[in-house]
Amino acid sequence: MILVYIEQDRGKVNEASFEALTLARQLAEMSNAPLHASAIGSASDALVARLGAFGVNTLHLAQHAQLNEYAPAAYAQSIVEILNAHKPDAAFAAGAERGNEIMAHVAAKTNLPMAANCVQAQTGEDYVVTRLRWGGSLLEEAKLKGATKLLTVAPNSIPAQAAAHAQTVAVDAFTPQLSENDLRARVVARVETASGKISLGEARVVVGGGRGVGSAEGFKILEELADLLGGAVGGSRVVTGLGWRPHADQIGQTGNRIQPELYISCGVSGAIQHMVGAKGAKHILAINTDPDASIMFKADYAVIGDLHQVVPAICAEIRKRRG
Ligand SMILES: Cc1cc2nc3c(=O)[nH]c(=O)nc-3n(C[C@H](O)[C@H](O)[C@H](O)COP(=O)(O)OP(=O)(O)OC[C@H]3O[C@@H](n4cnc5c(N)ncnc54)[C@H](O)[C@@H]3O)c2cc1C
Repeated sequence: MILVYIEQDRGKVNEASFEALTLARQLAEMSNAPLHASAIGSASDALVARLGAFGVNTLHLAQHAQLNEYAPAAYAQSIVEILNAHKPDAAFAAGAERGNEIMAHVAAKTNLPMAANCVQAQTGEDYVVTRLRWGGSLLEEAKLKGATKLLTVAPNSIPAQAAAHAQTVAVDAFTPQLSENDLRARVVARVETASGKISLGEARVVVGGGRGVGSAEGFKILEELADLLGGAVGGSRVVTGLGWRPHADQIGQTGNRIQPELYISCGVSGAIQHMVGAKGAKHILAINTDPDASIMFKADYAVIGDLHQVVPAICAEIRKRRG
């Protein structure tokens, strides 16, 4: 059996879970193994039907009042109980922040091997996986040995694809046994960002600013451009470090990973740690005074110029064309 953890937050499924499910199913088909899923709390009819369409035949649903809010070790415990009961060949999760954190706890609790951010895997007695290292700048091939192999799948590396034949899903609800230690780290409060604003992770257009913006006030023109395009504003670590933008707006290795149709980068040099967060963008337009800035070589379109002139000019042109 191969198990896939389906990540949900307040009823919203992380789509990367279906990418993990797609890779898991490919392996399950190769080894003729049944495909199971696990989730926490509840599962809507629509989710159960979609899991069936992706080839899942059993959903293990962990239900416990203490699991209503995210608690990584407690979530991991619910997976550990499934591993103990069903001894799967492998357990997958999305290589998202939570998926990686939960699977690391599962590995620590069970002493099983784990590989994070895989982009490929081959079955066998041992699994051979290819995974992203150093923020995606290096691909590593690794061998996973163990009764159950634990893997997370790097988001956006495998297109989510339904199975050729849908399955009927049996739902197996259970109550995991949680200890106090499992609840030492848990979400106790949520502070929402400004309402009405689209989040960086979901935005179809992101306007990002770097040191070249010059000040917190300098971001007004970037906000204006983002508003015109229905997008969100982000920044480099320099601008969050200087307090020009909150940390929640940071794009990069230690910030948000964005995946917009268009990333308009303004006064950003394009350091590797920044690009780790921006490489999911379908198109990049870079505005920079330095034609040799590293981002100019990674961008699809580049404007060599002062962002304080170029950005207002773009805004004016958009307004003119819209009448
Ligand atoms: C462990 C680690 C983690 C990190 N994580 C992150 C991360 O998550 N995100 C991140 O962004 N960085 C991260 N960094 C920092 C990263 O290495 C860079 O230092 C940072 O991204 C640089 O920010 P910047 O491009 O805004 O500034 P700079 O590198 O100083 O670049 C500013 C750019 O603006 C241009 N410019 C200046 N004036 C103008 C103007 N008027 N008009 C147009 N262009 C102009 C310049 O030509 C230059 O290219 C991390 C570093 C480390 C070591």
